[in-house]
Amino acid sequence: MELKSLNLPSDNPRPFIIAGPCSAETEEQVMTTAKALAKKGCHMFRAGIWKPRTKPGGFEGHGEKALPWLKQVKDETGMLVATEVATPEHVELALKYGVDILWIGARTTANPFAVQALADALQGVENPVLVKNPVNPDLELWIGALERINNAGVKKLGAIHRGFSSYDKKIYRNLPMWQIPIELHRRIPNIPICCDPSHIGGRRDLIAPLCQQALDMGMDGLIVESHCNPDAAWSDASQQVTPDILDYILSILVIREKVVTTENIIALRKQIDEIDDSLIDLLARRMRISREIGQYKKEHSMTIIQASRYNEILEKRGAQGSLMGIGADCIKEIFETIHEESVRQQVEVMK
Ligand code: PEP
Ligand code: MN
Repeated sequence: MELKSLNLPSDNPRPFIIAGPCSAETEEQVMTTAKALAKKGCHMFRAGIWKPRTKPGGFEGHGEKALPWLKQVKDETGMLVATEVATPEHVELALKYGVDILWIGARTTANPFAVQALADALQGVENPVLVKNPVNPDLELWIGALERINNAGVKKLGAIHRGFSSYDKKIYRNLPMWQIPIELHRRIPNIPICCDPSHIGGRRDLIAPLCQQALDMGMDGLIVESHCNPDAAWSDASQQVTPDILDYILSILVIREKVVTTENIIALRKQIDEIDDSLIDLLARRMRISREIGQYKKEHSMTIIQASRYNEILEKRGAQGSLMGIGADCIKEIFETIHEESVRQQVEVMK
């Protein structure tokens, strides 16, 4: 797939920042927020015109009535304006009112019919289009949506990482599952990815740490919900911050170098490589012993899976890992995978 870079204007080459309220509520709310953000140096303004709500009864956006407000933001502040589109009609209206950047929401990305309908409506459009990850953690679905939009001839494509929903909500509103955007970057390196800490965290106090994490992962931009009076927001009130707070959050972010510049890191990577070699060596030795045990089990007509032994390993190693500063869950997962391979090898022996 040939995806071109997004090429968005910004003071600094990275990260690019898109900020604005979850929803365009009133002309006054839109203009007050936009002017405050522009004063802080923001170049791109977001506001939802059509809002997909989980349950009926929530504020579903004003639709066309609110589009002139975005036009006014453009005219009065010079910022580029962005909004979510979910149907071909939204695309047509957004373009008619001069919306610069369109994004496809997480619920829409999850539906290939809807994405294809949008792709058809976006044929040859020159505006940047950002595709949010689908609500479910399915990288192929995300890439599929990007491909559909790319196939429509849209050259300025980007992706937004907004986290993935899960049944049990813990800290995050949507689990970040960073490995997914990282894998997207590995598969399609030239597509800019921006992080949406507001929808991942669902909470104001998580915006700053999530922004920093996103930058540390090498993300290219941030899209953050900002409202002139967050507590009074008609949607997603708990995850919006004032333009002042956003400015403060951005000012404390540490932007790390993407490229390797020091000798030091090269030496450290060499050490990691050596340790990885040893790890694979040790694993191979462990598997050889597993196969011998398989032989023993075969000769003594024993079953391969000995549940009590398996539990003992998981528990003992989990606790040992915690003591050494490695998450017990991580160790458990590693040993589950090792055990699975051991079992596979013993099955081979027993055949
Ligand atoms: C939004 O950006 O306001 C929004 C509805 O996001 P998502 O599609 O990520 O839920
Ligand atoms: Mn929102």
